[in-house]
Amino acid sequence: MSDMMKQYIEEAESALLHTYNRYQVVLDKGDGVYLYDLNGKKYLDFFSGIAVFALGYNNKEYNDALKEQIDKLIHTSNYYYNMPAIEAARKLKKVSGMDRVFFTNSGAEAVEGAIKAARKYAYLKDGSTDHEIIAMNHSFHGRTMGALSVTGNPKYREAFEPGIGNIRFADMNDFESVLANVNDKTCAIILETVQGEGGVYPATEEFLTKIRTLCDERDILLILDEIQCGMGRTGYMFAWQKYGVKPDIMTTAKALGCGVPVGAFLLNEKVGANSLAAGDHGTTYGGNPLACAAVSKVLDLFEKNHIIDNVNEVAGYLEEKLDMLVSKYDFIQTRRGAGLMQGLVFDRPVAPYISAALEAGLILINAGTYIIRFVPSLVITKENVDEMISILDSCLAEN
Ligand SMILES: *Cc1c(COP(=O)(O)O)cnc(C)c1O
Repeated sequence: MSDMMKQYIEEAESALLHTYNRYQVVLDKGDGVYLYDLNGKKYLDFFSGIAVFALGYNNKEYNDALKEQIDKLIHTSNYYYNMPAIEAARKLKKVSGMDRVFFTNSGAEAVEGAIKAARKYAYLKDGSTDHEIIAMNHSFHGRTMGALSVTGNPKYREAFEPGIGNIRFADMNDFESVLANVNDKTCAIILETVQGEGGVYPATEEFLTKIRTLCDERDILLILDEIQCGMGRTGYMFAWQKYGVKPDIMTTAKALGCGVPVGAFLLNEKVGANSLAAGDHGTTYGGNPLACAAVSKVLDLFEKNHIIDNVNEVAGYLEEKLDMLVSKYDFIQTRRGAGLMQGLVFDRPVAPYISAALEAGLILINAGTYIIRFVPSLVITKENVDEMISILDSCLAEN
């Protein structure tokens, strides 16, 4: 490692709060599906900053749109209207079929808003303040207190208890376990359409359909967290669109801004008209012109560059190549996922393979101890898949 990179890493370890065990690399710039560290070493990126850089790095049209907005107006606050937010909301409504948009600064904040909207909806119905939410085991919804409270990983929650309370956990794809937790106080069911951090685990169509019916029958709100699996990643703009099961509230973030910190929660008209009202919720930055210019441009480029077509073209190829690795190495148990959100499940910790890949110029990430997660940019090609498989294959053979 160069002296300069080493110095920066040492400074980081004394200045930044140590909440991550970071890889020993200082990243400097990106281009397309490649990243470069301070020494100029090139990496093929199959992580895209946690499923964020859907359009790849250094997309000229995207960069130009941001530069133009920076020179015009970066921030206004929500006491005034701004054009980029209105245009971004229009485009987001169109691709989602939802009716109302609230922009946030992150995914966790979108989940917070979704929870507040659900509680307020229930409160307006019966005036009581002890409503319950059902979430899934192994889910991940973010690190703020509300989002953490519905995150189904006790390890993330324990030191921070008590959470917001009145949360029950059921098992993904086990409808009976959901039913067993429903009662008259249940106001919402929240789940990721495809679990990300919890192990790249898609909800089944049967499970989602039954939950939708249950929600309709009992006027429970269905909240789908599409922060990781949405924005084209599974070959649909939002993963639920494959199943014809529509949420009452949906969260999005990560690839929504392709690098600019922005998220949103979206509501259908029923919830939009009967939940959060003036004074109930707010944010200083949320929906600011810079972030929304990014969202707006991202949605334009998704359409113009046929991003979802590319996902559908390359995903099958990626699956095929990953399946080859499953047959070749008996310590890889299975592959699962949807579109360009895939996981390889190992019978042993994957950390050594991820480190070896990094050394060899390939950026990968885990989802838990035993799973390598593949969430590349949505502009990757079959050649990029070949390159990734070739590096990973040699790391698997040697380690
Ligand atoms: C990343 C993620 C979040 C949290 O988003 P942040 O922007 O990190 O707050 C919530 N839900 C899911 C499914 C995620 O993948």
